[in-house]
Amino acid sequence: MPIHILPDHIASQIAAGEVVERPASVVKELIENAIDAGAKHIVVTINGCGQRLIEVADDGAGISEKEIPLALVRHATSKLETTEDLFNINTLGFRGEALASIGSVSRLTLTSSNGLGDTGARMRMEGGRPEKLAQVGVPKGTVIRVEDLFYNVPARLKFLKSETTEKNHIYAFIARYAIAYPDMRWEYIQDGRVVLQTSGNGDRREILTNLYGVDEAKQMINLEFVEGDISINGFISPIALTRSSRREITIFVKGRWIQDASLTAAIIKAYHTMLMVGRYPMAILFIDLPASAVDVNVHPAKAEVRFREGARVFSEVQRAVRRALLATSPVPMLQTSTLWGSQNRQIDPAWQMSRDQTDPESPLLPFQNSNADLQNPKRIAGLPLLRLIGQVASTYLVAEGPDGLYLIDQHAAHERVLFEQLIAQVSAKSIPSQTLIDPPVVQLSEDKAKIIEGQLELLSKLGFGIEEFGLNTFIIREIPAIISKGNPMNALTALVEAFEEDETPLQ
Ligand code: ADP
Ligand code: MG
Repeated sequence: MPIHILPDHIASQIAAGEVVERPASVVKELIENAIDAGAKHIVVTINGCGQRLIEVADDGAGISEKEIPLALVRHATSKLETTEDLFNINTLGFRGEALASIGSVSRLTLTSSNGLGDTGARMRMEGGRPEKLAQVGVPKGTVIRVEDLFYNVPARLKFLKSETTEKNHIYAFIARYAIAYPDMRWEYIQDGRVVLQTSGNGDRREILTNLYGVDEAKQMINLEFVEGDISINGFISPIALTRSSRREITIFVKGRWIQDASLTAAIIKAYHTMLMVGRYPMAILFIDLPASAVDVNVHPAKAEVRFREGARVFSEVQRAVRRALLATSPVPMLQTSTLWGSQNRQIDPAWQMSRDQTDPESPLLPFQNSNADLQNPKRIAGLPLLRLIGQVASTYLVAEGPDGLYLIDQHAAHERVLFEQLIAQVSAKSIPSQTLIDPPVVQLSEDKAKIIEGQLELLSKLGFGIEEFGLNTFIIREIPAIISKGNPMNALTALVEAFEEDETPLQ
C-alpha cells in the first residue's frame, strides 16, 4: 500500500480511541467540561450503561451560538492560547479534543446558551459529521447528549465489559467527582432512577457515603495538611478498615482524578507495619499545589500528571497520612499484645491452648491431618511432625520439629483449618448455614450493592442467606456455619471485594 494521508474521519476515530475508551470516559470528559464552565448544578443521565444514552446537563457559562460549531472541532478550545499556558493549567480540559472525539464515535447533540442572547442553539454531529446549527430557546447552560456510543466502531463495543462493570465505572467516577466538588449539586440518574444526589452544601463527609456506604464512611479519618505551597485534604481509613487491593486509593491533584503509582505507594507506606500483609488502606486525597509545579500534559486522557518535585510531593503525602493516622489511632507501641500483633484477633476458644495442656504427647497440629488439595500442597505435605511446646502472647504456637523451632501464627493456622473445611464442604456440595438471631442490616454504596444483587444466587450456594432490604440495603439472615463466630458484615465486605476482582469464589 502506498503512503497516504488518512481521511479526517479516520484520523478522528483513531484519536478518539485514546480519549474515549468506554462510556465512563465520555462521562468524565463531559463532567470536566461542566466543571470548567463553572457549573453549580450537574445532572448526569445514563440509559443502558451509557452505550444508549449519556447526557450531561449543566448550568455553567454556556457557549455562544457562533462558537458552538467550533466547540465540536478538534483542537478547538477556550482554555489555552500559548505554549506558556500549557505549563500553567488551571482547568480540567485544555486539549480541545473531547467533544470532537466523542462526536466521531457517536451521535452527539450539543445544546447551549450563554444567557446573553435571547435564545440558545443546538447542533448535532453524527459519526464525526457536523449537521446544521439551529436556534432553540433554552436557559443558560449546556446540555450534551451522546447517543449510540460506538455505533460506527463495532469493534470497540466488543471490548466493553459487562453492563454492571461499565455502570460501576461510571458510578465510581461520578461519586468521586461529587466528593471532589462538594459545592456543586450533583444528580445522577440511571435508567430513570436517581442513584446519587448531593446538596451542594460543601460537606464532603456527607457525600462520602456514596462511595463507601454508611458504616465505612463514618469510620474514615479526616485529613488536613498544609506545608509550604502544598495542601492535602481528604479522608483515609483507620487501620482496622482495609481492602485487599489498592483500588480504593483515590488521588486528586488540582481537582483532577489521577492515577499515580508513586503517590499510592506513599499512602500505603504511611501505614507501614500497621496493616497485615496483603491488606491496603482506603483513601481519597485532594492535593493542591501551584499549577507551575505540575505538568498535566503527559497522558491523552489526562489521567496522569508529572510533578516538578516528585520526591517532595511523595514525602509530604506520606507525612500527611502518617500524621492523621497517628493522631486518631496512636500506635500503642508499648503494649505487648500489640507487639505480637494480636489485637483485634478473634481466636476460636478451642485454639486458646494453655501452657499446661501441652506435654510431650501433645496433639498434632490440625493441619497435619489435612489432605485437602490446597494452593500449596507441597508445603503442607512437607510439614514434619511437630511437638507443641507452648504458646506466646495468645498468638503464636511454639513447636519443636526435627529441624528446629517452629513458630506458628495461631490465627493464620485457624483460618487455614476453616479454609480446608470450607473447601471440603464445597466439594461435597453442602455448606451448612447458621441462622443469625439478630440479622444485621448493611447499607452499601450503589456500586457494591449492584455487585451483591447480581450474586445472591451464588451467595446462597455458599451458605449466605442475604436478602434485599430496601435501596442498596441488605439483611444477612444466614452465614456459613463455619464462620459463625466471625463478623457477618466483614464477611460480606470481603465477598464484595472478591467479586470486584472478578473472582468467582470457590467455583
Ligand atoms: P477542552 O475541554 O479541552 O477545551 P472540549 O472538546 O472538551 O475541549 O471542549 C471544547 C470547548 O467547548 C471548550 O474549550 C469549551 O469552550 C466548550 N465547552 C465544552 N463543554 C462545555 C460546557 N459544558 N459548558 C461551556 N462550554 C463548554
Ligand atoms: Mg474538555
